[in-house]
Amino acid sequence: MSNQSNSSQHEENLNVLTQTQLVIRDALTKLGYGDEMYELLKEPLRVLTVRIPVRMDDGTTKVFTGYRAQHNDAVGPTKGGIRFHPNVTEDEVKALAIWMSLKCGIAQLPYGGGKGGIICDPREMSFRELERLSRGYVRAISQLVGPAKDIPAPDVFTNSQIMAWMMDEYSRIREYDSPGFITGKPIVLGGSLGRDSATARGVTIVIQEASKVKGIDLKDARVVIQGFGNAGGYLAKFMHDAGAKVVGISDAYGGLYDPEGLDIDYLLDRRDSFGTVTKLFKQTISNQELLELECDILVPAAIENQITSKNAHQIKAKIVVEAANGPTTLEATKILTERGILLVPDVLGNAGGVIVSYFEWVQNNEGLYWSEEEVDRRLKEILIKAFHTVNDTAQVRKIDMRLAAYMVGVRRMAEAVQLRGWI
Ligand code: GLU
Repeated sequence: MSNQSNSSQHEENLNVLTQTQLVIRDALTKLGYGDEMYELLKEPLRVLTVRIPVRMDDGTTKVFTGYRAQHNDAVGPTKGGIRFHPNVTEDEVKALAIWMSLKCGIAQLPYGGGKGGIICDPREMSFRELERLSRGYVRAISQLVGPAKDIPAPDVFTNSQIMAWMMDEYSRIREYDSPGFITGKPIVLGGSLGRDSATARGVTIVIQEASKVKGIDLKDARVVIQGFGNAGGYLAKFMHDAGAKVVGISDAYGGLYDPEGLDIDYLLDRRDSFGTVTKLFKQTISNQELLELECDILVPAAIENQITSKNAHQIKAKIVVEAANGPTTLEATKILTERGILLVPDVLGNAGGVIVSYFEWVQNNEGLYWSEEEVDRRLKEILIKAFHTVNDTAQVRKIDMRLAAYMVGVRRMAEAVQLRGWI
């Protein structure tokens, strides 16, 4: 093995935080910043670890571990979702908080990045247990968060009901109604029209722009989507409505493939609240097979580390848009870019979620609510501009889209840090 591939292999074995730090360092160096800036931005400013005792339905008490990380608040309050998942780790939450900073920078939102997570498996918990866990988490982090400090939102396996409980708990603690504490709420509690489908709407806008760059006509384009939850499910519908053929979808248990196009409405109708649908079918393929299917557009919309140096050479898509956070390793990013595949990184590809969360927070602060058309129009405006800024940076600097996105994303934060006199 050459030194080059040795070091690439080494990079691939690094965890998501260390991989993120490598790109942050590259981006800051290219922007002309020194070591001090990297030292500050390579880790969150604050990370709180909490232990949450929850009375379970059988009368026993289970103690859960949760985190809330705030990457940097030089630009404004921190913003980012809360994930409920058995594989949550502190380093993952830290990396996710940094990615939120980059998304907010790319979309020019007045926020830094934050993220939360609880180690738990909501698929095995009852409705009431989930409510107690959600409220317990808010009590545990309440000192650190708030509408002008740090604003949570949904992420993997959390939804508008969980946001509603969290908002209620926070409002009770503060003793005034605080809809701006959290986004992704149900509409009647101050949610924004279009927030539920915003991540997928954003992915769709980015796919439309990327398709123009690649000269692909979306009509009849073959699309493969890994994941059938909030992002993947809505996206399948939007792609289908745009005239594309969704030939493959998957959930945590396997994938479905039909070269003639899947019946998306039927599948959406049959999936459960965690996005599971393939269990109903006998003929399934594996998630790995799904990623390597013949298609024009591939959208990983599930979890981290799905496209690696092991399968990047087998990817057949012309465009890969990351709807999940962190689905492609750094080494795989290099391989896909070298192979001429247009890879739109997560911090741009899935920024639609936090953009409409920002709209929700603005509406909460004003007490004035927008139509869905207004939300869509503003989302489009921001994302089209962001896509071309990142794509132009990649072209001009001859770098991959991930590094370009990090450069665009971190620039404002570094500037704000300097202007505040922190460095
Ligand atoms: N969890 C989403 C993300 O990773 C949305 C965050 C938000 O709306 O604040 O971008």
